[in-house]
Amino acid sequence: MDLSFSPEEIAFRDEVRAFIRDNLPADIRAKAGRVAHFDKADVVAWHRILDARGWAASHWPREHGGPGFSPVQRYIFMEEMLRAPTPEPLSFNINMVGPVVYTFGSDAQKARFLPRIRSLDWWFCQGFSEPGAGSDLAALRTSARREGDEYIVNGQKIWTSTAHVADWMFCLVRTDAAAKKQEGISFLLIDMRTPGITVRPIITIDGAHHTNEVFLDDVRVPLANRIGEENKGWDYAKFLLGNERTGIARVGLSQGRVSRAVSLACGIEGLDGSLTDDQGFRRRVIDLEIELKALEITALRIIDRQRRRNDGRPDPASSVLKLRGAETQQASAQLLLDAAGRLGAPLDADLAALGGGFAEAQGAAAIHLGARAATIYGGSSEIQKNIIAKGILGL
Ligand SMILES: Cc1cc2nc3c(=O)[nH]c(=O)nc-3n(C[C@H](O)[C@H](O)[C@H](O)COP(=O)(O)OP(=O)(O)OC[C@H]3O[C@@H](n4cnc5c(N)ncnc54)[C@H](O)[C@@H]3O)c2cc1C
Repeated sequence: MDLSFSPEEIAFRDEVRAFIRDNLPADIRAKAGRVAHFDKADVVAWHRILDARGWAASHWPREHGGPGFSPVQRYIFMEEMLRAPTPEPLSFNINMVGPVVYTFGSDAQKARFLPRIRSLDWWFCQGFSEPGAGSDLAALRTSARREGDEYIVNGQKIWTSTAHVADWMFCLVRTDAAAKKQEGISFLLIDMRTPGITVRPIITIDGAHHTNEVFLDDVRVPLANRIGEENKGWDYAKFLLGNERTGIARVGLSQGRVSRAVSLACGIEGLDGSLTDDQGFRRRVIDLEIELKALEITALRIIDRQRRRNDGRPDPASSVLKLRGAETQQASAQLLLDAAGRLGAPLDADLAALGGGFAEAQGAAAIHLGARAATIYGGSSEIQKNIIAKGILGL
């Protein structure tokens, strides 16, 4: 097994780094690392810059408009984005719905949706979770009944991130209530402007409006917007959820937070720099650095194994990355908040205008509170432990 980057891969990493340095707009750079979520305008602006370079759909093969990166290049590319940090290419479009459309969609769907998914002309959100269906997603109850050449959709989705700014939602619906629960589900693309859709905000503890409840009342969706076969949606959802999970540890994001915590600890206006002499703080920094190195090596081992196996199946070991990656995101966000001390506590972004230490410490509390969700979304930690127990340990 080869865990070091080749000279070509190091050259690629330097190319990505230089591209970010030269092209990330100054106003977005000023927010980098200081906000839990970038605004839609920032995500779109950076996405378009990447798209012009041919890099927005970093996971896609060339024939569908992607750059044709190798798995290692994909990993390097994503980690450099997180390390900077830049807004990420929209995961709902690029990692999730895009690959489903080019793998299972009809030619007409590919022609209509893929270019707009790639360019972010159409922003997608993910309508999977429901009040009674999260970890047990196949328990979902939102129904779609056929009427002529349309489905009539009724039900409720919850935790739908960015639904309030989305143009489309990819959505799991029940099309056969009598079938076994995994067998009666279909995968629909729903235009968010369709009458009958109501989006209500959920404000999370970081003060952000990022997630929503989405109510669907007699929403008419053309049959032409169903991906693949009726009642086979669970297969497409499994493909989507398992697709490309090696970047899930988000090592670069945590590394960026540790670096920022260290620079705050070295002293800013309003803080005296005494943390650098604190043995407890130093040990936490070192422990995190070691954990991040171990995560990076684990991610590269999984990529290497997938490359050898080359069967496209998700590796249960990626659950280790999700589990430990989420815990490390939380630990690094806690370190950042502790280093910022009282200056990091305010959630109010306007305090940055006070400048000095407030500007340096800005966002630490929101980032810490936002990171609490990392062990829930994308499959909770308990679910990852179940997968590790069965899929790796054979328990
Ligand atoms: C910030 C945020 C953004 C999100 N964005 C989206 C989105 O855009 N689209 C979307 O569809 N969903 C989204 N989600 C939903 C997310 O996928 C679910 O919250 C997650 O899958 C957990 O489901 P749940 O909330 O229903 O909790 P539950 O499944 O009810 O779990 C409750 C607790 O029980 C534990 N548990 C459940 N089953 C088991 C088991 N078998 N063994 C052991 N423990 C178990 C869980 O680990 C958890 O601790 C988001 C969630 C958050 C917090």
